[in-house]
Amino acid sequence: MVAVSGHVQRPGVYEIVNGTTTFRDLIYGQEFCGGIRNGNQLKAFVPGGGSAPWFVPDQLDLPFEGRLVGAAGSMLGSGAVMVMDHTTDIPAAALTLTRFYAHESCGKCVPCREGGTWLERILSRVVDGKGTEADLDQLLEVGAMICPGAFPHASSEELGLEAVPFPYKMTTICFVGPSAYAPVHSALTLFRAEFEAKIVKRTMIPVTAMAGGEQ
Ligand code: SF4
Repeated sequence: MVAVSGHVQRPGVYEIVNGTTTFRDLIYGQEFCGGIRNGNQLKAFVPGGGSAPWFVPDQLDLPFEGRLVGAAGSMLGSGAVMVMDHTTDIPAAALTLTRFYAHESCGKCVPCREGGTWLERILSRVVDGKGTEADLDQLLEVGAMICPGAFPHASSEELGLEAVPFPYKMTTICFVGPSAYAPVHSALTLFRAEFEAKIVKRTMIPVTAMAGGEQ
C-alpha cells in the first residue's frame, strides 16, 4: 500500500504491485491517481516519505523496487508519495518538510539539534526574500555536517546530472537529522534557480581613497 498526497486528481491510499507498478502508473493511471490536477505539469515528487530525496519526471518509469529506487538516488521509505505540480514554490515546499524534522529533533545529537534549526532558519530567510548567495552555500555546509560526503540525489537530463545512489553517511544516531537535510539538498540540487530567484542581490559599492585625505 502507498499513500499519495499533493497535486494529483485523486489523492489516496492505493495497493500497488512491488517491482511492477511504476511511479507513472501510480500518478497518471486511471485506476490510481488519474493524473495531475487541472491538467498541470508534474514538477517533482517525493517517492518514499518526507525524508526521501526527491524525484523529477525523469524517474517516472521506475517501478516500486527498493534496489532500483536506491540506485536512482532515493528510497521507498514509508510509502508516502508526495506529488508537486508546476505551480509549486519549491523552496517553500522544502521549508515545510525541513521545519517538520527540525521540530522533531529530540536534541541528543548536536548536528541534528543545531543543524536542523540552522537549516530551517536559513531556509526561512531565503523563502522570505531576505537570503543571500552565501545562505545557499551555507545550507549545503550545514547539511554536510549532518551527512558528510556525497548526498543521494536523482539524475536530471535537463541539468546534465548523474544520480548519486542511496544511502548517505550520517553523523547522527537516527535518521531525523538527515531527514531535515534531504528536502533542502534535493530542492537546491534540482531547482537551484528557484532559490537564486528569491535571494537578495547585493552590489558592492567601490570606495575610492582620495589623495591627501581630501573629502
Ligand atoms: S538524530 Fe535522532 S537521536 Fe539524534 S538528535 Fe536527532 S532525533 Fe535525536
